[in-house]
Order: sequence, then C-alpha cells, then structure tokens
Amino acid sequence: MLIDCTVEKEAILYERLPNDKVRCLACARYCEIGKGQIGLCGIRGNKDGKLVLYVYGKVAAAHIDPIEKKPVTHYMQGTKIFSVGTTGCNWLCKYCINYDLSQRRKIEGADYTPEEVVSQALENGCQGIAYTYNEPTIFLEFARDCGVIARKHGLFNIFVSNGYCTPESVSMMKEFLDCITVDFKGNGEKQFVRKYIGIPSAQPVFDTVSRLVKEKDIHVEITDLVVPQVGDDLEHAKKLCKFIYDTCGPEMPIHFLRFHPDYKMMEFPSTPIKTLENHYDIARKEGLKYAYIGNVPGHPYEHTYCPECKKIVVRRYNFDILEWNLDVQNRCKFCENKIPIIGPLDKGYKEKRFQFVG
Ligand code: SF4
Repeated sequence: MLIDCTVEKEAILYERLPNDKVRCLACARYCEIGKGQIGLCGIRGNKDGKLVLYVYGKVAAAHIDPIEKKPVTHYMQGTKIFSVGTTGCNWLCKYCINYDLSQRRKIEGADYTPEEVVSQALENGCQGIAYTYNEPTIFLEFARDCGVIARKHGLFNIFVSNGYCTPESVSMMKEFLDCITVDFKGNGEKQFVRKYIGIPSAQPVFDTVSRLVKEKDIHVEITDLVVPQVGDDLEHAKKLCKFIYDTCGPEMPIHFLRFHPDYKMMEFPSTPIKTLENHYDIARKEGLKYAYIGNVPGHPYEHTYCPECKKIVVRRYNFDILEWNLDVQNRCKFCENKIPIIGPLDKGYKEKRFQFVG
C-alpha cells in the first residue's frame, strides 16, 4: 500500500534488510516492511528501501489537559499539559475511546514543527507536553524532537503508552522523557490481549516496565483498564500486582480504570464499581501502597492516602485537587511520612484547565 503524503522524514528506529526491506524497531511488532508498504500502525512505511515516519509534524489532535487526566498522580500535580497525538496505532483495541484517530490509516493532521508544538505549549501556559491519544512510540522520532526542545524551555514530557516497546525505543525515550504511564489492559492476560487488543502477548509490556524501572531515569505509573466479564479476573489482577510489586516496589502507583462501552464493544456494560474495588483491594493486599480507581469521579479511592496514618494527603475529585496536605518536601502534614510524589502542587492548579486549542 502506498501512502499519498508529502511529509517524508526518515525514521531512526529501524534496520535495513536484504532486498530493500526494512525492519521497524519502534515497537514490539518489529514489522518487516517491503518497498512501498507500510507497517501495521499505518504511519511508518518503506519508501525506496528507507523507513519513513509519515506523521512527522502531523498533529491530528491537540488539547490542554490537567496532568491528572493522563492519569498521573505522583508527578507535578496541578500542572497544565499540552497533549498531542497523531493518527495510527500499533494496537487494535476493540474498545479504543480514540479509535477515530488511532485506527485511522491515513496521514492527516495540522502541520506543526517541533518548535511550534513547544511554542503552543508555552503560549497556553502549560508546564509539560503529553504525547497521547494514540501510541506515541510509533511517532517517537517526532516526539523526541519536540521533547528535546521542550526541555530547553523548562517543560517536561509525558508518554501515555501501551508499553509495547523495544530496547531501542526505550533508549530513545531516555533522551527526553520525564514521565510515562504504562497501560496494561485486562491485566495483561494472554487470552484477553489476543482477542481484544490484537497482540500475541503482553510480555513486551512487562519487559518495558522492568527496563524503565531498572534505569530509573523516567517517572513511571501503571494503569490497568478493567473490562468487565472478559478482562476482570481477580487471579490475573493478583498476578499483575505481584509483578508490579516485585519489579517496581511497593511505592509504584497503580490505577484501575473503569471501562466504558466504545467502538466495537458497545454491548459491554461499564465496569461495576465493585469490580474496581476488588482490584484495588488486591493491589493493597499485594503490598502496593498507592492504588487508585479512575474514571469514577467522587470515589474515595481517587485520593492519595498516607500509608502510615491513613489520612488523605491529596483529596481529589476527578481531575481536580481539592486538598493538599503535604508540606514543601511532600511529607504528610499529619505524621511527616514522606509521600513519593515528585514536585510541589502547581500554584495555578485552581484555574480552568480544560480548554480546546485547535
Ligand atoms: S511502530 Fe508500526 S511499523 Fe513499527 S513495528 Fe510497530 S506497528 Fe510495525
């Protein structure tokens, strides 16, 4: 399949193979791509024996978000984030809420240079840039160029990622990335990811988490979107929590997110609250100190609790922060226990942060 597109930036994450073929090294699919063909994500293709990133500088979505929406609850709380994404994705999730972008196999979007992405973030008073909406690893070279400039201007960079990465892509992330949320789906269980995500196994996601944690350069948080009936087995949840505890330690934040029917899974109900609470309980029993429930505004497990005195140190409602009971060193105000949250609460956190910018 040939792409009709004028943006032709040669990718970095690839290797050449005989007969003008290339192997993409951006994600764990490792597509081998013949001349004139594109990879599964629809945005990296072989042009004349070179791998081209066709969405370099093609921003298909841009919004201002609160950082808590990613979800990130232990890093730079209260900040405003300029979120960008492109078309295409390396996963085929049957319930993707952004399927219009992620499953669009067309190169579309507004033209932005990396400098313009950073300017937009600064002009809109953002403190960071998130690469999100579709899997950012597939447009990593563009994200890297934005991120390096962003850092020079004092901005931080976040990936909202499915973690289906390679050693090469994680290595490139280290050049500019400050924070990543890695999203397991259906607890990363094999049958689930085969049927509903379209990957043979979630093992590369586990490997990415291990790699990121070992290298310690990037703040990591874990999410798990819990799909009722087919991805909510508590034994699988226990296995995931045990892996997180053993690999990342007890202070790794884990977010259990509520599923809402979307795309090809409209017949499924939203995740029952009790199912999410059961997941939360398992995480706590497995020793994870900072478990959260997401997509359920008003639930008491949106807050951060001090594991020592059990009091609420950060009270939240959806993406808003209502109360901040931490001192300047992020110690609990009630018992002085140090809470592993990076950065102070941003002083502008009460301003309106939802604003469509283009
Ligand atoms: S990023 Fe795209 S082209 Fe590269 S391996 Fe993954 S799916 Fe294939």
